[in-house]
Amino acid sequence: MREIEKTYDYKRWERELYEAWISSKVFSVSTEEAKGKNVFVIMMPPPNVTGNIHMGHVLDNTIQDVVARYKRMAGYYVLWQPGTDHAGIATQNVVERELKKEGKTRWDLGREEFIKRVWEWKEKYGNLIIESLKRLGISPDWDRLRFTLDEKYSKAVITAFVRLYEAGLIYRGYRLINWCPRCGTALADDEVEREEEEGYIYYLRYPLVDGGYVVVATTRPETYLGDTAVAVNPEDERYKDLIGKRVRLPIINREIPIIADKSVDMEFGTGIVKITPAHDFNDWEVSERHNLPKIQVIDFDGRINENGGPWAKLDRFEAREKIVKAFADAGLLEKVERHRYSPGRCYRCSTVIEPLPSMQWFVKMKPLAEKALEAYEKGDLVIIPETFGKIYKNWLENVKDWCISRQIWWGHRIPAYYGPDGEVFVAESYEKALEKAEGFYGQRVELKQDEDVLDTWFSSWLWPFATLGWPEETEDYKVFYPTHFLQSGWDILFFWDARMVMAGLFFTGKVPFKVLYLHGLLRDKFGRKFSKSLGNSRMYLNFWKSTGRMV
Ligand SMILES: [Zn+2]
Repeated sequence: MREIEKTYDYKRWERELYEAWISSKVFSVSTEEAKGKNVFVIMMPPPNVTGNIHMGHVLDNTIQDVVARYKRMAGYYVLWQPGTDHAGIATQNVVERELKKEGKTRWDLGREEFIKRVWEWKEKYGNLIIESLKRLGISPDWDRLRFTLDEKYSKAVITAFVRLYEAGLIYRGYRLINWCPRCGTALADDEVEREEEEGYIYYLRYPLVDGGYVVVATTRPETYLGDTAVAVNPEDERYKDLIGKRVRLPIINREIPIIADKSVDMEFGTGIVKITPAHDFNDWEVSERHNLPKIQVIDFDGRINENGGPWAKLDRFEAREKIVKAFADAGLLEKVERHRYSPGRCYRCSTVIEPLPSMQWFVKMKPLAEKALEAYEKGDLVIIPETFGKIYKNWLENVKDWCISRQIWWGHRIPAYYGPDGEVFVAESYEKALEKAEGFYGQRVELKQDEDVLDTWFSSWLWPFATLGWPEETEDYKVFYPTHFLQSGWDILFFWDARMVMAGLFFTGKVPFKVLYLHGLLRDKFGRKFSKSLGNSRMYLNFWKSTGRMV
């Protein structure tokens, strides 16, 4: 008889035990066997292929493992579906950084060659996170591992786009969007992070055309180049006489009107604000109400463009300093005050976001959100803890259209094809688009596919059913969908969970999971989330290495 060791040596036992579980397929699920049984399905939130395991993954997967094992012991036939996410911007960034070491950019390689490089990277490193997860001893059915860029999964993503487009829920439009000048792509509102930081309010004097001046307050003086109006609140007694007058923008000498708009905050600065429609979301709306021109002065690389007079080609922050100095030199800088504010930053690289007008694809969210709200109110979806139900409702009630096009290459390319005159044909394939175009033009024409790819979340919102074979009515889909339990950190409630409910209801007519459980986030000793850009996730990698559990 073997003696039990005094201290448990996990290095001796864990790997062997786990390999025994895997090779005897104790976690594997057969669709045939599942029929007629009490099935219980959990969808694993797919980790990014760029990801390294950290304590957040440990927490996340431990909860799922506990539920899966508990349900098995309670007599259920459990499918725990694993997979990985192609993480568009994040993965592209990693490979671009590698290229940079060779002194190259993705443009040097070209689209096809670059995508090949990303796939090579993915084959080499993309499953590291899965190997690490296995060391936790968790119990998903690894035989069913899916990836959001698998051929079948990609087909589901394209089908979803086409169906939404045909239902009038996807459109292309010229709008103000959040742009990351470093990543070179548009981002959705939720992909912009805001945390309070130290900044300044600049008080600038704008000369009135008929003598005197007004003082406008702004945190972004460089955008004065794109001002097309100055605004006061119509209720503001101090400035009633100013409405209808005109000011002349210093140095560039453009005359603009003073208008009254209810959106002006009387408490901010002097209560007189500048309106820069092409670089501010509120100002864009003001310009729509008052029919103001929109002058873009900052380019997609974050530099001042040809509309910037003497500051053209300067980086936006360099231009800020020079413009403030020019105002000071001209005696037009009233004062500068310290100010706490929350500029938007890219969630992938922390660069300050620039609102820029551009042509993008959007999902019309309101009709989808209404269904997701109704399902929750009817009790078809249970959210634990309940407090998050209020947050879920609030987000859905105020949801804005979702910008889904990204100006990168790694991802699902948008299935929109353009004719010689710019006419758009949306179809599952080039051939199908050609057919449509032929019907439209009455002859064969050449089509050009849209260059953009879809937001990664546009693929992962299909996760609960695309992993099971949707849009085909597969046996897996019939047996295992809808699922029963989904858990995630609360931070992706909007990015992912709520959107899955919308997609589930639209594409399958069903809420994709019965229970949504949101757990807390692990934070470092300063209360910050773990992130690669902060560098605070490293200590946990070290932890894994030191315990020998890092693969
Ligand atoms: Zn970025």
